[in-house]
Amino acid sequence: MQRPDDLATALRAGDRQALARAVTLVESTRADHRAEAERLVAALLPYTGAATRLGISGPPGAGKSTFIERFGLNGLKRGHRLAVLAVDPASKRGGGAILGDKTRMTELSRAPGAFIRPSAGGEAMGGVARRTRETILLCEAAGFDTVIVETIGAGQSETTVAEMTDMFVLILPPAAGDELQGLKRGIIELADLVLVNKADGELLDHANRAAADYANALRLIRPRVAGWEAPVRAVSALTGAGVDAIWDDVARFRAVLEAGGDWSRRRAGQARVALFTEIGDGLLAQFRAAPQVAARFAEIEREVMTGARTPADAARELLRVFAATQ
Ligand code: GDP
Repeated sequence: MQRPDDLATALRAGDRQALARAVTLVESTRADHRAEAERLVAALLPYTGAATRLGISGPPGAGKSTFIERFGLNGLKRGHRLAVLAVDPASKRGGGAILGDKTRMTELSRAPGAFIRPSAGGEAMGGVARRTRETILLCEAAGFDTVIVETIGAGQSETTVAEMTDMFVLILPPAAGDELQGLKRGIIELADLVLVNKADGELLDHANRAAADYANALRLIRPRVAGWEAPVRAVSALTGAGVDAIWDDVARFRAVLEAGGDWSRRRAGQARVALFTEIGDGLLAQFRAAPQVAARFAEIEREVMTGARTPADAARELLRVFAATQ
């Protein structure tokens, strides 16, 4: 590995290999790498924060990667430079698998103005959140003005991504609301923009109807941000219909939030969530590493698992043991 100072300089000069190496460093769980990663991120911090951070989520097959490819290419034409990060907390698959899948964003991945990074996957939520947060900062320091965080896993990841981005975009297939299995209602309420994809060919009418239904449903929800009612748009990632105009929605959203002070409030909120995540992760790591805790853990765990003891009571004892080690 290069020294963090050299790496920071190369990264800021737009060296993509340096960026890729920096992301690998941030993803590493080795203690010495972690220390280096923290030094690197700290050194780059003054050069971060300017990008628009977009979270993009939706059920598998909705067309997220097809959309991002099209949207990204449109963005490059508009003069944007964009980074795409994938978050998949549930996946056990290695980092290469997604990039190796050449059907995903082929053209965008070859474009000089774009940087695509798959998820390393397979770790606890906290680890994924930190890695993604730090990778966003690295991309910003490298000069990308738009960072897209795509969730490719299901479940909790949507909330995590919504918490670490400025604008949460939900991509849905052209089906009615109750046909959407596995999509929690709460997720729709997080959306700043809803895209009903596949508005083309035979699916066009379905898509338009679904978009009208979602728009009605969203009207009943109090907006997350004053002055912004989440638009619902029917688009086609395949033909490109309606896709380029999404860049205008993004710009409008940012302008509305900046004018009302919500932009900086959201960023402050993100930082606060990150602080608590780090505290939680840090405490848990120390707790697990404490030999006094380990000495008692197996027995207490057994008591809880056989129902001899409540989890609350057991946790209290283990926390007491841990506190005595500090
Ligand atoms: P993801 O799992 O959400 O990333 O979905 P993909 O982008 O991989 O797309 C899933 C499938 O839907 C693929 O077969 C795409 O070709 C198809 N698809 C994506 N966007 C559109 C669209 O706008 N119209 C139509 N008809 N098919 C699409």
